[in-house]
Amino acid sequence: MTTLFKKIIDKEIPAKVIYEDEDFIAFLDISQSTPGHTLIIPKEETVSALSASPETVGRINIKAVEIAKMLMPVLNCEGFNFITNAGSIAGQTVDHYHVHIVPRYDVNELKYVFKENKAILDEIHARITTK
Ligand code: AMP
Repeated sequence: MTTLFKKIIDKEIPAKVIYEDEDFIAFLDISQSTPGHTLIIPKEETVSALSASPETVGRINIKAVEIAKMLMPVLNCEGFNFITNAGSIAGQTVDHYHVHIVPRYDVNELKYVFKENKAILDEIHARITTK
Protein backbone atom coordinates (compact mmCIF):
# COMPACT_ATOMS: atom_id res chain seq x y z
CA MET A 1 0.00 0.00 0.00
CA THR A 2 1.39 3.38 -1.01
CA THR A 3 1.19 5.80 1.88
CA LEU A 4 1.32 9.56 1.94
CA PHE A 5 4.85 9.39 3.30
CA LYS A 6 6.02 7.20 0.42
CA LYS A 7 4.77 9.96 -1.88
CA ILE A 8 6.84 12.48 0.11
CA ILE A 9 9.91 10.23 -0.25
CA ASP A 10 9.28 10.00 -4.01
CA LYS A 11 8.71 13.79 -4.21
CA GLU A 12 5.24 13.22 -5.60
CA ILE A 13 3.81 15.54 -2.98
CA PRO A 14 5.64 18.48 -1.40
CA ALA A 15 7.02 18.56 2.12
CA LYS A 16 9.14 20.98 4.09
CA VAL A 17 12.21 18.73 4.19
CA ILE A 18 14.84 19.64 6.78
CA TYR A 19 17.13 16.61 6.44
CA GLU A 20 17.66 13.84 3.93
CA ASP A 21 20.20 11.09 3.37
CA GLU A 22 20.22 7.74 1.60
CA ASP A 23 18.03 6.03 4.19
CA PHE A 24 16.01 8.70 6.04
CA ILE A 25 14.11 11.89 5.40
CA ALA A 26 12.90 14.45 7.95
CA PHE A 27 10.26 17.09 7.27
CA LEU A 28 8.01 19.42 9.22
CA ASP A 29 4.76 17.93 10.42
CA ILE A 30 1.89 19.59 8.61
CA SER A 31 0.17 20.04 11.99
CA GLN A 32 2.73 21.82 14.12
CA SER A 33 2.13 20.76 17.74
CA THR A 34 4.85 23.26 18.60
CA PRO A 35 6.99 25.33 16.24
CA GLY A 36 9.47 23.03 14.53
CA HIS A 37 7.51 19.78 15.05
CA THR A 38 9.33 17.40 12.71
CA LEU A 39 8.81 13.85 11.48
CA ILE A 40 11.68 11.54 10.57
CA ILE A 41 10.90 8.49 8.48
CA PRO A 42 12.91 5.66 6.95
CA LYS A 43 12.86 5.48 3.16
CA GLU A 44 12.36 1.75 3.55
CA GLU A 45 8.63 0.98 3.55
CA THR A 46 7.73 -0.40 6.95
CA VAL A 47 4.61 0.31 8.97
CA SER A 48 5.91 1.08 12.44
CA ALA A 49 8.56 0.39 15.06
CA LEU A 50 6.92 -3.02 15.47
CA SER A 51 7.62 -4.07 11.89
CA ALA A 52 10.95 -2.29 11.34
CA SER A 53 14.26 -4.06 11.81
CA PRO A 54 16.07 -3.40 15.11
CA GLU A 55 18.75 -1.68 13.05
CA THR A 56 16.24 0.76 11.55
CA VAL A 57 14.69 1.44 14.97
CA GLY A 58 18.15 2.21 16.34
CA ARG A 59 19.29 4.33 13.44
CA ILE A 60 16.10 6.40 13.19
CA ASN A 61 16.35 7.30 16.87
CA ILE A 62 20.03 8.24 16.54
CA LYS A 63 19.09 10.47 13.59
CA ALA A 64 16.16 11.96 15.53
CA VAL A 65 18.52 13.02 18.31
CA GLU A 66 21.00 14.46 15.80
CA ILE A 67 18.20 16.48 14.21
CA ALA A 68 17.00 17.69 17.61
CA LYS A 69 20.52 18.90 18.44
CA MET A 70 20.63 20.68 15.11
CA LEU A 71 17.21 22.29 15.74
CA MET A 72 17.87 23.36 19.33
CA PRO A 73 20.02 26.46 18.71
CA VAL A 74 17.98 27.35 15.65
CA LEU A 75 14.62 27.24 17.39
CA ASN A 76 15.83 28.25 20.84
CA CYS A 77 13.79 25.49 22.45
CA GLU A 78 14.63 23.91 25.80
CA GLY A 79 13.93 20.23 25.16
CA PHE A 80 12.07 17.72 22.99
CA ASN A 81 9.51 14.98 23.04
CA PHE A 82 10.50 12.05 20.81
CA ILE A 83 7.32 10.11 20.09
CA THR A 84 6.37 7.19 17.90
CA ASN A 85 2.85 5.82 17.60
CA ALA A 86 2.63 2.15 16.63
CA GLY A 87 -0.82 0.97 15.57
CA SER A 88 -4.10 2.81 15.13
CA ILE A 89 -5.00 2.01 18.76
CA ALA A 90 -1.99 4.14 19.72
CA GLY A 91 -2.98 6.99 17.44
CA GLN A 92 -0.96 6.08 14.36
CA THR A 93 -2.67 7.65 11.35
CA VAL A 94 -0.05 7.12 8.62
CA ASP A 95 1.08 3.53 8.10
CA HIS A 96 4.73 4.35 7.46
CA TYR A 97 7.10 4.31 10.45
CA HIS A 98 7.81 7.80 11.78
CA VAL A 99 9.23 9.42 14.87
CA HIS A 100 7.84 12.78 15.97
CA ILE A 101 10.47 15.27 17.11
CA VAL A 102 8.55 17.86 19.12
CA PRO A 103 10.50 20.90 20.33
CA ARG A 104 9.44 22.13 23.77
CA TYR A 105 9.36 25.75 24.84
CA ASP A 106 6.91 25.79 27.72
CA VAL A 107 5.82 23.09 30.15
CA ASN A 108 2.13 23.87 29.62
CA GLU A 109 2.06 24.02 25.82
CA LEU A 110 0.88 20.43 25.30
CA LYS A 111 -2.04 18.81 27.04
CA TYR A 112 -0.95 15.40 28.29
CA VAL A 113 -3.43 12.55 28.30
CA PHE A 114 -1.64 10.75 31.11
CA LYS A 115 -1.73 12.25 34.57
CA GLU A 116 0.57 11.27 37.40
CA ASN A 117 -1.16 8.72 39.61
CA LYS A 118 0.95 6.84 42.19
CA ALA A 119 -1.53 3.99 42.65
CA ILE A 120 -1.57 3.25 38.94
CA LEU A 121 2.23 3.58 38.73
CA ASP A 122 2.67 1.11 41.60
CA GLU A 123 0.21 -1.36 40.10
CA ILE A 124 1.70 -1.25 36.60
CA HIS A 125 5.26 -1.48 37.95
CA ALA A 126 4.34 -4.52 40.03
CA ARG A 127 2.70 -6.19 37.04
CA ILE A 128 5.79 -5.65 34.92
CA THR A 129 8.35 -6.67 37.52
CA THR A 130 6.48 -9.59 39.14
CA LYS A 131 6.43 -12.89 37.31
P1 AMP B 1 0.71 9.77 13.58
O1 AMP B 1 -0.60 10.28 14.07
O2 AMP B 1 1.67 9.43 14.65
O3 AMP B 1 0.54 8.67 12.54
O4 AMP B 1 1.38 11.01 12.83
C1 AMP B 1 1.12 11.32 11.50
C2 AMP B 1 1.49 12.76 11.34
O5 AMP B 1 1.60 13.04 9.96
C3 AMP B 1 0.46 13.75 11.91
O6 AMP B 1 1.05 14.50 12.96
C4 AMP B 1 0.11 14.61 10.71
O7 AMP B 1 -0.05 15.97 11.03
C5 AMP B 1 1.28 14.39 9.79
N1 AMP B 1 1.02 14.60 8.38
C6 AMP B 1 -0.06 14.15 7.67
N2 AMP B 1 0.06 14.53 6.39
C7 AMP B 1 1.21 15.23 6.28
C8 AMP B 1 1.89 15.87 5.19
N3 AMP B 1 1.39 15.89 3.97
N4 AMP B 1 3.05 16.49 5.47
C9 AMP B 1 3.57 16.49 6.71
N5 AMP B 1 2.99 15.88 7.76
C10 AMP B 1 1.83 15.27 7.55
